[in-house]
Amino acid sequence: MNSLAKRLLLDSKQGILILSPAQEEKRNQLLQYYSALYRVWGPQHWWPAQSRFEVIVGAYLTQNTAWTNVELALANLREADLLSVEGIRKVSLGKLQSLIRPSGYFRQKAVRLKTFVAFLDEKYGGLLDRLFAQPTLQIREELLNLSGVGPETADSILLYAGNHPVFVVDAYTRRILDRHCILPGKADYEEIRELFQRALEPAIRQQEFMLANGAPMLEAGFRGTAHPPSVMSTSARTALVQVYNEMHGLIVGVGKNYCKKSQPKCDDCPLQRFLPGVK
Ligand code: SF4
Repeated sequence: MNSLAKRLLLDSKQGILILSPAQEEKRNQLLQYYSALYRVWGPQHWWPAQSRFEVIVGAYLTQNTAWTNVELALANLREADLLSVEGIRKVSLGKLQSLIRPSGYFRQKAVRLKTFVAFLDEKYGGLLDRLFAQPTLQIREELLNLSGVGPETADSILLYAGNHPVFVVDAYTRRILDRHCILPGKADYEEIRELFQRALEPAIRQQEFMLANGAPMLEAGFRGTAHPPSVMSTSARTALVQVYNEMHGLIVGVGKNYCKKSQPKCDDCPLQRFLPGVK
């Protein structure tokens, strides 16, 4: 982890990050994005998976490919009864490659899945419970040390498989921030993550209040990228994790449906009123 990442994580933990007025303004904007999107779309039910290990496999397979291709690869693994730690451990590399072929870069991804299971076996006796019982920072560092695991994959695994409170930054997040002149698209991953984590603090307090008072969840309206409820999307989690979970899902909804790489559909987008220059 680079020094900026370490400093931001430390500052975040200790709550001592001092923000400039410009940073405060950016934070407020992001909180408004969350409120606006959640109001129109409701819960997105991420991640569509039946187990923590399925989330992990999906996080690897989704690198550089569309989710529809990942679904085909996951279906192959499920049909072969290999979508488990034990399954990936025992299957031959060649067979694994052919099963996950639809997800692209299948040779590389098969080796990486095997590497993850070898790491889990060696360090945690093959048990995800033991891995996810470790402190967030420790798991993050260990995941980042594995071949083929960058910050987005590590954080997806932490947040969606482990229910650890880490916001996931993806290409859609960068595109929206860039187009709305909040941060350049090439901004440091940790800077973006920190900005979102700070921005969402009031939403987390509201979520805590709702949970404490048994408020019903909103029903999803138009479904940005909402998935049907799954074992993983309905698992118990803290308000902090829930808000990071939703925000990432909502952003993917904007990216997939409106904020496309070319020809964004700003006129129909729920974030249009926040676009600089739009009154
Ligand atoms: S599509 Fe939406 S998020 Fe993207 S630039 Fe336009 S208004 Fe902003």
